[in-house]
Amino acid sequence: MGSSTDRKRKLDLADDAKKQNKTLDARQSSGINPWTGKAYSSRYQSILQTRLKLPVYKFQSELLEAVADNQIVVIEGETGSGKTTQIPQFLVEIGYATPGKSCVGCTQPRRVAATSIATRVAEEMDVTLGKTVGYTIRFEDISDPNETVLKFLTDGMLLREAMSDPFLSRYSCIVLDEAHERTLATDVLMGLLMEVLPKRKKGSKHGELKVVVMSATLDAEKFQAYFGGAPLMKVPGRTFPVEVFYTAEPERNYLEAATRTAIQIHQCEGPGDILVFLTGEQEIEQACEEIRLGAQDMGKDASELVVYPLYSSLPPAQQRKIFSAAPGPKVVGGKPGRKVVVSTNIAETSLTIDGIVYVIDPGFSKQKVYNPRIRVESLLVSPISRASARQRSGRAGRTRPGKCFRLYTEQSFHNDLQETTYPEILRSKMSNVVLTLKKLGIDDLVHFDFMDPPAPETLMRALEVLNYLGALDDEGDMTDLGRQMAELPLDPQLSKMLICSPDYNCSDEIVSIVASMSVPQIFLRPRENAKAADEAKAQFVDNTSDHITLLNAYATYEEIPQAERRDWCWNNFINDRSISSAESVKKQLKGIMRRLDIPLVTCRGANGSFDTNAIRMALTSAMYMQTAYLQSAGNYLTVKDNQIVYVHPGSSIDSKPQWVVFEEFALTSKNYIRTVTTTRGEWLVEMAPHYFDLENFPECEAKDELMLEYKKLARRMTR
Ligand code: ADP
Ligand code: MG
Repeated sequence: MGSSTDRKRKLDLADDAKKQNKTLDARQSSGINPWTGKAYSSRYQSILQTRLKLPVYKFQSELLEAVADNQIVVIEGETGSGKTTQIPQFLVEIGYATPGKSCVGCTQPRRVAATSIATRVAEEMDVTLGKTVGYTIRFEDISDPNETVLKFLTDGMLLREAMSDPFLSRYSCIVLDEAHERTLATDVLMGLLMEVLPKRKKGSKHGELKVVVMSATLDAEKFQAYFGGAPLMKVPGRTFPVEVFYTAEPERNYLEAATRTAIQIHQCEGPGDILVFLTGEQEIEQACEEIRLGAQDMGKDASELVVYPLYSSLPPAQQRKIFSAAPGPKVVGGKPGRKVVVSTNIAETSLTIDGIVYVIDPGFSKQKVYNPRIRVESLLVSPISRASARQRSGRAGRTRPGKCFRLYTEQSFHNDLQETTYPEILRSKMSNVVLTLKKLGIDDLVHFDFMDPPAPETLMRALEVLNYLGALDDEGDMTDLGRQMAELPLDPQLSKMLICSPDYNCSDEIVSIVASMSVPQIFLRPRENAKAADEAKAQFVDNTSDHITLLNAYATYEEIPQAERRDWCWNNFINDRSISSAESVKKQLKGIMRRLDIPLVTCRGANGSFDTNAIRMALTSAMYMQTAYLQSAGNYLTVKDNQIVYVHPGSSIDSKPQWVVFEEFALTSKNYIRTVTTTRGEWLVEMAPHYFDLENFPECEAKDELMLEYKKLARRMTR
């Protein structure tokens, strides 16, 4: 251990680290930006003053030394201490990246965090976003291979990059951020890095790879142990005491309680901004509206209150507003105004908003749950963990002592909440991950070094699904189809649908449908305008298929001249941003299709109408594992899994067809199936006899019906 060259390198870097601090000081007065060759702007200088106050600055040299000495370093630091925005910059500034050769990558579990942080860091470094600093999220790559030295990307995207670059050769350093979140992709990346790191030691073909694992204050020792005792550095945050309040009784309606609490704080508490945690877009928009109305009711003497939402599908310009300062007093010497941010979990640890003094925590978030028995993965509003609750309250003590209002009882906090949330890998279907790992050449899934191995049943299910889809053969080896499927940044089922769609002469239509399904909800239905919205949607409805309804809207949009599109969307209750992202997704998917030699063909007739049978067949060919059959009693039963389900009331399907395939199984108060398409028994037995194998089939009405279909099929064949 510790050869003399190692030693020297360490000293060099340590020296460099000290120099670095000096350079930073020097830049405050004057200096040239090494990335642009231009003098630093005054904005740079003023942001620098704030940056230098962040707790991580005190640890800069120590940290860079640890990185120089070790391949992996684990950093645990209080949220808001400057880990995400500063540490990747330290690494870049000390020379870990060279334009066009190698770069520093920093992963984020969430798209919003990746884009927002990249934007901020580009500003801090006084460089252009997309050049020196960039980001990559699914379907959006704002980076430049010749110039980018620091790239923020979602953990899922780094996993995809590993498929074409198994040694991660373009990176000299990877920062795995928000590791405590234990997302599925981060867990898989950690296992993958354990395999890559020994192959990327100093002197190896692609040079040494450094890994910095960063986590908020949870479980850092667990990471340290997993990474073979890598050094652990702790960065304390600046935190002030936060007083926690509970409700005396459980709240019946947390949304109403949250808005009421926000208004009360504005009325009765001293200055300071408010952060409210809710679970999703709809709730958040509703709460924002109600808080605004509540503030209006206070009359014009009350101080000003501005309300900003924050969730992933919000346009970036609006996302950025959460960082703007609260309004000042209305009159000179009056009470200052206040800012309220109503956010999803993203504000729990990923993004830090300065100035928050009050936190409202209803105790819920949307979490993925997976039931391998019925193969259903869904997002459910579920109670958070005590660890999350503590993180949330910590957000109130960033700038001065704060208050956190938990909208549940103290007893509930101690008895009902779990200490920590289970890692996502234990709550997800694994088909996508298994396909990715297979593509990466990792065949022995059982011995893959997962920090928490997924349940064997879940892995079996994934292998089974991939086998049914034809991605893996009976030995579990990847087929040509599987290799193609892995190239597409989509769920395996959608990949298969796209690859097989030319057989039904409708790949142009299927790629439009897949693109439209990959973006947030295209059809808008505001509560106050529900009727008008339904009327607008009626123009596009195909009452045999929600997928074709989506296609009709998308295809109409494509034909509207660019300049009129905004108005057209507005008039037709179409989400402008969603549908235009669908267009860009389609463009990218078409690019991959070209590369994979998947022909683009259309089933559109001369009169402009689609061959809807062909489209429904293409949909069925990939979705047959999600079929439901209409029972004589009048309800639907999912085939093979025998769950009673209901077609969602928002569906375009107005009658009760015998057979349907569905995209999504929403486990809410009722078991709804969403995005549904009518199909036929004869298609099912023709396309998937290996799946609808009657010898291994539970007794049910669907089985009797399939039996008849097989007989008809046999008759057709002999004729
Ligand atoms: P950590 O990763 O340790 O939680 P961050 O690096 O995310 O900390 O945050 C450091 C500081 O940078 C915080 O004070 C945060 O408010 C600030 N910051 C981050 N993004 C922005 C932005 N877009 N505008 C203004 N300040 C920001
Ligand atoms: Mg962070």
